Amino acid sequence: MSRRTSRPRGTAAPRITSASPCPCGLPAVYGECCGRFHSCGAAAPTCEALMRSRYAAFVVQDAAYLLRTWHPETRPPGVDFDPGMRWVRLEILDTTEGSAFHSTGTVTFRAHYTDDGRPDSLHEKSRFVRHEGAWVYTTGVFVD
Ligand SMILES: [Zn+2]
Repeated sequence: MSRRTSRPRGTAAPRITSASPCPCGLPAVYGECCGRFHSCGAAAPTCEALMRSRYAAFVVQDAAYLLRTWHPETRPPGVDFDPGMRWVRLEILDTTEGSAFHSTGTVTFRAHYTDDGRPDSLHEKSRFVRHEGAWVYTTGVFVD
């Protein structure tokens, strides 16, 4: 996920604790799902897991995680969170490769959000590569 719009100033991230349902949509609590990758430095084992954890990082506004899971060649200098944007739900639509046995992979997803209350969604095919042993996001193309 690479799109962001810049509006000035941030607001507090929605309150998500380790006991909250994980925003990525898997039936697990945040602390035992994407929270492990965000805070403990555990590496996401597959591209899909990385995609989910990056989506969850947008929800909890963990810019440091987004940057360290971004390939250095495509990584922006920083990540701004749009205060009018609220991520609602992630749907994983398709994946190719991206397992422990691969060095590249793609994840096609639809991320639902509201922008100033208006429902919308982002439909993207993201590319991932293994970089220094860990999966990182490289680029995404909008499918729509
Ligand atoms: Zn999760």
